[in-house]
Amino acid sequence: MENNVTEERQPRRRYSARKPMRKRGPSCPFCADSSKRITYKDVESLRAFLTERGKIKPRRRAGTCAKHQRVVAREIKRARHLALIPFSPEHLR
Ligand SMILES: [Zn+2]
Repeated sequence: MENNVTEERQPRRRYSARKPMRKRGPSCPFCADSSKRITYKDVESLRAFLTERGKIKPRRRAGTCAKHQRVVAREIKRARHLALIPFSPEHLR
């Protein structure tokens, strides 16, 4: 890995004393909608939890809760094993 390769970054949010960060309903899409199921077969929705480089997004970026993040990670690994999604970006070699 080269030194100056930056994983895709989000703009840094500044801490503000006046306006504390959100405190709303569940951010986890699976807690918010219990009818949503995570399965290795649903490649399209699994892609939402991968970075551009094919890595599993951390919870703070994916917005899932700990419980569902574990499920997402497991299903992504299953899908990878079945070659439904790549381990690494196909265009890099
Ligand atoms: Zn959840």
